[in-house]
Amino acid sequence: MEGPLDAAIESGMGKYECYEIIENKVGDLAKKFGRRLTFKAIAMGDYDDFDMLKRMVNAADDYGAHADFCLPSMTSSALGEVFTSVATSISSTQLELTDAITKKQRQVRSVNRESKSKAGQEILRVSGHDFWIYSQDQVTRKIYKEWVEMGSDNKRVYRHEYEKTVLQHPQARYVAFAKNPFGEGAERFAHRFFELAADCRTIVGKAMVAKESRLILDDSDEKARKQFTATFCKTQQLARRLAKEFNDKLRESNIDSRTPTVSFLDCSIYELYDYNLGVLSVLVEDKLDQKNWKKWNSNNGFVEGMKKAPVFSEASLRQAEMNMTRIAHFEGDVIEEGSEEEEEEDESEVGELFQGKGALVFTPFDVAQAFSHFSYLASGRKRLVCDLQGVHDEAKNVLIFSDPVIHYHNPRGYTSRKNVHGRTDHGKKGMNKFFHTHAQHCGPLCRIINRGFQKVDKCETNEPADEGDCKIS
Ligand SMILES: [Zn+2]
Repeated sequence: MEGPLDAAIESGMGKYECYEIIENKVGDLAKKFGRRLTFKAIAMGDYDDFDMLKRMVNAADDYGAHADFCLPSMTSSALGEVFTSVATSISSTQLELTDAITKKQRQVRSVNRESKSKAGQEILRVSGHDFWIYSQDQVTRKIYKEWVEMGSDNKRVYRHEYEKTVLQHPQARYVAFAKNPFGEGAERFAHRFFELAADCRTIVGKAMVAKESRLILDDSDEKARKQFTATFCKTQQLARRLAKEFNDKLRESNIDSRTPTVSFLDCSIYELYDYNLGVLSVLVEDKLDQKNWKKWNSNNGFVEGMKKAPVFSEASLRQAEMNMTRIAHFEGDVIEEGSEEEEEEDESEVGELFQGKGALVFTPFDVAQAFSHFSYLASGRKRLVCDLQGVHDEAKNVLIFSDPVIHYHNPRGYTSRKNVHGRTDHGKKGMNKFFHTHAQHCGPLCRIINRGFQKVDKCETNEPADEGDCKIS
């Protein structure tokens, strides 16, 4: 969308009269379409009142649209860049809604969004106007339990189940689920969520977020919803386990404690028995501060600081695949097509390189990228945790992530299962893309934290299909 002010003035109305009508219209559109709406205000010419355009951009942004304000110089290259960015945004919206396997367009559930500014307000009580309220006998809360069993061949096998438990706050008798979502990812809608006291209105405990599928599921019944929530809960819990292992390794290494650690939000499943809709299964976690939300990398090769995600041709994807193992295992320079393989670098050299250097401090960016790399090796090269986003809690010096993506690929699996961790799991291709970009960011922290992983992995035989992550140390 461009130049709404032009249209307003042409219509013959007064500027300020138009202003409110247009701002409301923009808000209404964004409320309905959320992140499917691309709203670009492109300011050109000699208008001195760009505040108005900016406020319209804010109205769209408040409901989660891809909204921004550009003031390009009047050169053709600057203008070209702006229009290209509009096209890029629209095509990425189309791609996001295309099923990777069936190539069909997926449908977003039709709901109005709640504005981010409203969702950001601190409240002590909820109103029946904004929230669906369920009494505790309509609610089942389940937590993820994981344990390790020794398999017949002395291999560690991870087992899990969802265990029924009580509400979080001892005084909680009701829960409140916001009717409209305030946040919207590629996969999920995020709604405000609270536990309530016996008066059915007063909030007890922390502000939370309930997440559910944004898309209409193929068979949009209770079973599909439950499966969706269970998959995401498991993905996040797996990432949590890897984060703990990463922090242990950080502590063991000679790294300054000013380097942040990593964590993923704990999550549980709430099943809400709705008289009209049946069982709603939602993933619930603490609400993070949206204002300080950051994304350190994505599931398509994007890392923080890039203007847009890299584009891969079939040839460049093949190249990325060829180079991946070498990057992941620090085996010297990447191979350009046609060149000879380099001699392998001696692992001990890497160790010596960082000996006696004293305290090393790494940035949140370094830590996030190194964690993704670590997750691949620590999971026996079967999983890569990425799409790292959340907040940096500076008081506790920890990166708190939510909504991770895990790419799953078992090179020795009997079948190549796809989308093990949901629709954003792009398997081997996703791993290739990550390491392709990561080659430029794979630094000293990666080398320190990823020491000790054997190149040839010993847990190749009789691997159970999905469980039984094998950690090599
Ligand atoms: Zn690395």
